[in-house]
Amino acid sequence: MIPTEVRALAVSASASLPAYITDLPGLLTHAQAVRAALPDNVELFYAAKANPQRPILETLDGTVDGIEVASGGELSHVRDTLPGSRLAFGGPGKTADDLELALKLGVERIHIESVHELRLLADAAERQQTVADVLLRVNLPMRVDGAQLTMGGAASPFGLDADALRECTALLRMAPRVRMHGVHAHLASGLNADQLARVAGEVVKWAVGQDLPLSEVNLGGGMGVDYDDPSSVFDWPAYGAALAGLAAAHPDLQLRIEPGRSLAAYCGYYATRVLDVRPSNGRAFAVVHGGTHHLRTPAARGHNQPFQVVSVERWQHPWPRPSVTDGPVTLVGQLCTPKDVFARDVPVRSLKAGDVVVFALAGAYAWNISHHEFLMHPSPAFHYLEPS
Ligand SMILES: *Cc1c(COP(=O)(O)O)cnc(C)c1O
Repeated sequence: MIPTEVRALAVSASASLPAYITDLPGLLTHAQAVRAALPDNVELFYAAKANPQRPILETLDGTVDGIEVASGGELSHVRDTLPGSRLAFGGPGKTADDLELALKLGVERIHIESVHELRLLADAAERQQTVADVLLRVNLPMRVDGAQLTMGGAASPFGLDADALRECTALLRMAPRVRMHGVHAHLASGLNADQLARVAGEVVKWAVGQDLPLSEVNLGGGMGVDYDDPSSVFDWPAYGAALAGLAAAHPDLQLRIEPGRSLAAYCGYYATRVLDVRPSNGRAFAVVHGGTHHLRTPAARGHNQPFQVVSVERWQHPWPRPSVTDGPVTLVGQLCTPKDVFARDVPVRSLKAGDVVVFALAGAYAWNISHHEFLMHPSPAFHYLEPS
C-alpha cells in the first residue's frame, strides 16, 4: 500500500516528522492513466481545491487540460503558479472583485451559480469593456443512488434551479458581453463509475432537451475514493467508455470533467511517530505526533484513514516500551478533543511507542482543510519525492 520510497523517507534520519510526503512521480503516473482512459475529445480539468500545492499543480500541468478554481485566492495562486494554464472559475459567493479579477486574468470559463452573480459579471464585463465566457451551473432534480452527497434537485446553495435558469437566460439576452457556452453540473461526490456514467447521461440528455445555447457540458468531479480499500480505484476505463459514447452521440458538444479528490488523493502520505500507547478501559490508544489539525480528512468524513506501521527498533528509555500486540488500536493525535481520531479499533500485529505510522490517501482535502492553528502545535514538514 505504501511505496518503498515513501516508507524509506519516513524512517530516514533526514526526515523530520510529522510530515506530508508527496509522491510526485506517482501522481504523474496516475494522472496519465486517467488521461489515457478518457477519450481524446473529452477535456480533463483538475479541481484545485482538492490540493492546490504548487508541486501538485506543476506535476499535473501538461497532463490535464486546465484547472478549475473555486475562489479568488485559488484563481490568483493558480494563475501565478501556471501562467499559461486554461482556467475555469466556479464556486458560490463570487464577489465583484473576484469576477473583475477573473476577467483581468483571462479565465476561460466562469461558472455562474446565481442570478445575482450573473448580473455582477455582466456589470464587470461592461466596465472592463470585455467579454465574459460562462457556463450556467445547474441544480437538476436528480436522484443518484448511493451518492454520499446529493447536490442536485434538492434545495441547495449551489447552482441554478429551473426558475433561476429561466431568469438567467432572459438576462443573457440583454447582456451582449456575456457569452453563454453551455451548462455545468457537479451534482454529487463519492460516486463510482457506473453511477457517474448514469449522471453524465442524464445531464447531457437534459441539456440537449433545453432551449439553451449549448456547445459545452461540464460534468464536474465527484469520482469516489475508497478509503476503506485504497487498492479499489475509480474505474476510469469504464467511465471513459461511457463518455466516449456520449461524445459520439453528440459530436458538436464539448464534454469536460473536473475531478479533484480522485486525482490527488493517492499521491499524499502523512507520516508521523507514535508518542505513546496507552490502554484505557479495555481499549488501546496510540497517540501520534501531530493530529487532525494536520490531517482532518478522517475527522471530517468519519472514516478510518488507512495506514501502515513501520517498526523502529530504537528505544532510548530504561522503562518498558508502551505497545500493543495482536489487537485493535485507536490512533489519535495530540489535540484535547475526542474528535482527534485517525482510525478506530484497527487490528495491528504490533505497534510500539517510537514506531512510525504512515497514513495513505492523504493527498486530497487533507492539509488544506485542516484547522492548523488549533492548540498551537507546529506545522508538519513537507517532503516531495521528485520524478527521477
Ligand atoms: C469540489 C468540486 C469539484 C471536485 O470534486 P471532487 O469530489 O474532488 O472530484 C469539481 N467541481 C466543483 C464545482 C466542485 O465544487
